[in-house]
Amino acid sequence: RRKWGRVIDVLKELEEGCDTPVGRLKQVVDAVAVEMHAGLASEGGSKLRMLLTFVDNLPSGREKGTFYALDLGGTYFRVLRVQLGGQRSSILSHDVERQPIPEHLMTGRTKDLFDFIASVFKQFVEREESGSGYPLDRRRDLGFTFSFPVKQTSVSSGILMKWTKGFAIEDMVGKEVVACLQEAFTRNGLDVRVAALVNDTVGTLALGHYHDADTVAAVIIGTGTNACYVERTDAIIKCQGLLTTSGGMVVNMEWGNFWSSHLPRTSYDVDLDADSPNPNDQGFEKMISGMYLGEIVRRVILRMTLESDIFGPVSSKTPLMAAMHEDDSPDLTEVERILRDILEVRDVPLKVRKLAVNVCDVVTRRAARLAAAGIVGILKKIGRDGSGGIVSGRSRPDTRMRRTVVAIEGGLYTNYGMFREYLNEAVVEILGEEVAQHVILRETEDGSGIGAALLAASNSSRN
Ligand code: ADP
Repeated sequence: RRKWGRVIDVLKELEEGCDTPVGRLKQVVDAVAVEMHAGLASEGGSKLRMLLTFVDNLPSGREKGTFYALDLGGTYFRVLRVQLGGQRSSILSHDVERQPIPEHLMTGRTKDLFDFIASVFKQFVEREESGSGYPLDRRRDLGFTFSFPVKQTSVSSGILMKWTKGFAIEDMVGKEVVACLQEAFTRNGLDVRVAALVNDTVGTLALGHYHDADTVAAVIIGTGTNACYVERTDAIIKCQGLLTTSGGMVVNMEWGNFWSSHLPRTSYDVDLDADSPNPNDQGFEKMISGMYLGEIVRRVILRMTLESDIFGPVSSKTPLMAAMHEDDSPDLTEVERILRDILEVRDVPLKVRKLAVNVCDVVTRRAARLAAAGIVGILKKIGRDGSGGIVSGRSRPDTRMRRTVVAIEGGLYTNYGMFREYLNEAVVEILGEEVAQHVILRETEDGSGIGAALLAASNSSRN
């Protein structure tokens, strides 16, 4: 009886530590907008890097022809071909091929990694050639999705700043990314023009904009989390004299590294960060994304175990967490199965199973609501939060709210229904129903790859 009381205390403390009342979310919204300003004002001015992408024209829907994309940035590497019909939303077809990256290539030499990429691409076009009569040596236009921090020098060139996500190829840091790829294509006898170098959020924004021209931002919530949006060039103070035909440019926020004292942080977050390979880095991401949520739950359950013996020794993963959380059977049979089969905890009474669901709920609710605050922070920065800011592109104050679309993608948002509901709900709560009517969160699919092919199209001389 006393043990149960101690466990309930752990849950209560967690709930209080993770509390995100709308007032606090609004403080986070303000902090995001302020940090965005600071990151745009000077290099290193904020934990938000606010990287220039040199993408100034998003796909219009008029693009025509066959374009390719390579998507590198996680465990899988993908090749795509997209056929565009020239009318909005008419992606005639697209083919995708997915390959795991051999682990030794992630920590080996630049040349080996890029030769592997070029050879997978070559096999892809060789197969296509037999079907369509496309000669192998014909010039192809390609967009390269390279989801690591890059200092761009143009829409199709940039220097790798550092590796993340388990990649560590030392001789590549500081090098021109596209030059490495281009050399590998040449060694493999392929004539490919890399017309765009982008990260996954920019690809998602491009696909979102292709389908709906009111799309102004894109958010990824998968293993990690990040966002990008369209900024006015005159607001990018750290790059004076930046001129684009559209007057705007896509900015890659690298928002996973956002930090503010208003974020509700618990001892589990502090410990998780200290035990991570990158302490004091990616603080926002560690409270939100799939790589960490299951780990926070594991730490809470472990703490409960230390206070009592209601669970055995356990480990957890985010998809299992989602399955437990969404178990709607009256006696929580799925929670029982997961605890038994995977965590090897047997005969857990119903009230303890309910407790596990509670922990998942608290951790996911906080994550989703913070992501929502991040999104509204972007809207606030660009005057689309209904607070009567400046209407994009014009200097006339206007309280009329324009239709505003945010593209969202990533395994956590797509597959975790409770996360999605909490996020959508919090956006409405922060903005108020009136304004929220004009804000649409739109899920895209394969945007990181398809979007890069679209950007290759809009930046190619053929369109
Ligand atoms: P990535 O971000 O690595 O490019 P995804 O966008 O597909 O790839 O996201 C994969 C992540 O999504 C996984 O690491 C996992 O944390 C999360 N995820 C996948 N499926 C589920 C699920 N059913 N419930 C909760 N999270 C999930």
